[in-house]
Amino acid sequence: MTDILNDQTSDEKEAIIVENPFHTARLKPKRKGKKPPKLLAVVHQSGCTGCEVCIQGCPVDSIELVPGPNPENPQFQQMVEIDLSRCIGCQNCSQDCPWETITMYEHDDAFTAWSNETLSSELYVSEEKVDDLKKKVIGE
Ligand code: SF4
Ligand code: SF4
Repeated sequence: MTDILNDQTSDEKEAIIVENPFHTARLKPKRKGKKPPKLLAVVHQSGCTGCEVCIQGCPVDSIELVPGPNPENPQFQQMVEIDLSRCIGCQNCSQDCPWETITMYEHDDAFTAWSNETLSSELYVSEEKVDDLKKKVIGE
């Protein structure tokens, strides 16, 4: 997973993006099967209201909340993101979203779409941020 989110052309997104090893989603069961799913879901975060409807219908619990910018009121302006490493491509979320802000992409196209459509992620972060998190979590 480490490098597949880095098919980016924008100067602003040149940082190497990796899975955040400290996210609680990493404690959830990994996707079963050897073959990746044909489709993956990507949230167009600019249109996400944070209503959480999609979370309820995900059979593998692979949709995560991204808290809003104010730590004292994290539900304000919250959004969701999808764990591409765990999504099984069932399409429930893209059908359930009342705002039509989740799109299914062919597996190989999903990572570019993720780069273009993600405003804020805690599941996938820059390598630099992983180092910062590591210092906070285990004091290294
Ligand atoms: S496509 Fe299915 S598995 Fe993937 S995030 Fe949406 S509901 Fe979950
Ligand atoms: S259902 Fe749509 S608008 Fe609501 S949290 Fe999910 S992606 Fe965002």
